[in-house]
Amino acid sequence: MKKIIVQKFGGTSVADTEKIKNVAKVVIREKENGNDVVVVVSAMGHTTDHLVKMAKSLTPNPSSREMDMLLSTGECVSIALLTMAIQAQGYDAISFNAMQVGIMTENIHSKARIVDIRTEKLRKNLEEGKIIVVAGFQGVTEDGEITTLGRGGSDTSAVALAAALNAERCDIYTDVEGVYTTDPRVVPNASKLDEVSYEEMLELAHAGANVLHPRSVETAKQFAVPMRVRSSFNLDDMGTLIVGVEKMELYRPVAGVAADLSQARIVVCDVPDKPGVAAGLFSAMANENISVDMIIQSYARKISNTNDIAFTIDTADLPKTLSVLDKLKDVIGASDIKVDDEIAKVSIVGAGMIDRPGIASTMFETLATLNINIKMISTSEIKISCLVDKSDAQKAVKALHTVFNLESDVIADVKGDLPDV
Ligand code: ASP
Ligand code: MG
Repeated sequence: MKKIIVQKFGGTSVADTEKIKNVAKVVIREKENGNDVVVVVSAMGHTTDHLVKMAKSLTPNPSSREMDMLLSTGECVSIALLTMAIQAQGYDAISFNAMQVGIMTENIHSKARIVDIRTEKLRKNLEEGKIIVVAGFQGVTEDGEITTLGRGGSDTSAVALAAALNAERCDIYTDVEGVYTTDPRVVPNASKLDEVSYEEMLELAHAGANVLHPRSVETAKQFAVPMRVRSSFNLDDMGTLIVGVEKMELYRPVAGVAADLSQARIVVCDVPDKPGVAAGLFSAMANENISVDMIIQSYARKISNTNDIAFTIDTADLPKTLSVLDKLKDVIGASDIKVDDEIAKVSIVGAGMIDRPGIASTMFETLATLNINIKMISTSEIKISCLVDKSDAQKAVKALHTVFNLESDVIADVKGDLPDV
């Protein structure tokens, strides 16, 4: 049986018809390698942004069902055009939208999760020798409702298809050459990683590295789909391979530095120190589908017997969050709700930091030397995040990138002393 390769092309790779012709060549090259090819595409260029803008010019709060109807059209345009471009080169190809394939999702608009992918139609068409082009980002519910997977969701469509088809690999083609130690626009000598683990990539994606949709990495990890991020304009470069951590030699404690500038911090002040308060607060948020990132509860003050609970959310969820909290404030007995959206979350990520002491203190010292105030800290086994003022984010990223030796291709073993900043 032939191997199946899933290829995904993002908006910049299909921004105009010239670029679509280029994508057709990349697709055909893989077919000529003797593989079966399933291609997933995003909407052309900034189409999705334009559609969002049009909707918002009509109403500040468009219904999420109609938003999905609208946004899903972007990908329908690109699948048809790419299929025509492939056919024009003399190859047999066919496009499908999510409904035609059966990319089944849960019944939630604007950030639905894929629950199942029907593969019969895909397998039948591959057997007939066709190249298949599938619309990314969209799905369909059991009731035939159109859904979308959240901004950037085409990556997840591609990985989910690769998992369902037991594909050899999922190649994510984009306009950068792979995954970098940090954003090269901020730190020009950021270096490209040849390999990164699912775990690290997941933390980097959540920490604000915009290369991949976090759920695509989650899905790749769950189904052990090898993923490659590579440039659609430079095929000689093999990009970055994302694999299981057990396959890697962890000679460096930190793989990358990321900053997320789209977070807002909320402080719920003076809530009573008794069971059920956090449960009430966060279940109300969960009911509105708001995901909460960092959470800190302060040590209870003896005299007043109250706590402060602070947490961060995506700024896009801010209006929804404030309306939830407005209703909840008196119920849970909070004295005040404070909001700060001039903040950034700066994170260092690396599977190699497990069992290596001193990484957190190096991060804090680096920020202290720059006189950057840390407003919140959160950690996982392989990530340390600090909330800082937005205006300090760039400085922090640059300094952390240097202190953890991410600039050179030869990654130093940082077991011993870390260089001075
Ligand atoms: N077109 C969608 C977006 O811009 C999905 C994607 O590109 O992955 O978010
Ligand atoms: Mg993307």
